[in-house]
Amino acid sequence: MDAQTVAAEAQAIGGAGGDAAAPTFLDRLIEAGLLIPGGVLGLYGRSDIFEGIAERLNRMVLRLGQDHQAETLRFPPAMGQHDFETSEYLKSFPQLAGTIHSFCGDDRAHRRLLARIEDKQDWTDQQQPTGVVLTPAACYPIYPVMARRGPLPPEGKTINVMSYCYRHEPSLEPTRMQMFRQHEYVCLGSPQQIIAFRETWMVRGQDAVRALELPMEVDVANDPFFGRGGKIVADSQRELKLKFELLIPVNDGLPPTACLSFNYHMDHFGALWGIRCANGETAHTGCVGFGIERLTLALLKHHGLDPARWPQSVRDTLGGL
Ligand code: ZN
Repeated sequence: MDAQTVAAEAQAIGGAGGDAAAPTFLDRLIEAGLLIPGGVLGLYGRSDIFEGIAERLNRMVLRLGQDHQAETLRFPPAMGQHDFETSEYLKSFPQLAGTIHSFCGDDRAHRRLLARIEDKQDWTDQQQPTGVVLTPAACYPIYPVMARRGPLPPEGKTINVMSYCYRHEPSLEPTRMQMFRQHEYVCLGSPQQIIAFRETWMVRGQDAVRALELPMEVDVANDPFFGRGGKIVADSQRELKLKFELLIPVNDGLPPTACLSFNYHMDHFGALWGIRCANGETAHTGCVGFGIERLTLALLKHHGLDPARWPQSVRDTLGGL
């Protein structure tokens, strides 16, 4: 995002030091110490209160999916470049991806690097790609793992996964962070198994958000596919109703924010990685994702910045806050 876009956005949400403007939700979060600015748009530290809410939401997600007997897997927020390439993420979302680079030179190159910094010049071209890419969505690391294990059991497979994810989307909307957590259940199996899984979670997700006493709506959605070709893919994703989002109003004067998503990937990932069902057919996959930061922010927005004053019913839903 360029400076102009950021300025326009700042104006749209009435913040970022607008002279006489009322403090935005982001301003209030920072003022209360819940978010700690990281010097870059969309990069924040979190206070213990913020983390306490996030942790309870994570536990709530685990409780909601208890009957799945899901296998829990945790990955660091990065994946190998080869698996990342296989995911074809760069085909659809090149604008969002983040890759890790590191200095790999000798003493002379090091002196050059330091001179660049000293001269306040760009020094980043003195680094090399490391072969490590930041995880773009929590479920991505599990597909290669499942493929390597061989055919799925006849009843399919459900995985619980939670990870920080990276998306290059610098923004003043607190709900659009560059690094944030997604807590997902991923289902791999036959089309019927995935459709049933998604229906279950669309009901469960709404029940959970209702219990948190948050306003919401569920709508068909599309991912932000890049470029002109991406528009066609996005239209077809909507037409086939492959993605639904549970939206909660969070940001001042802006459309509601997707806090949960319910995705049916058809055989996209199954085919890319060669994941097979027990009968040899290409596996279909789907996932339900809970945006942990977004749900935390929604709770803070609607119930106030002090969780001690939230309705008792909401605190009970979160397992005692
Ligand atoms: Zn997913």
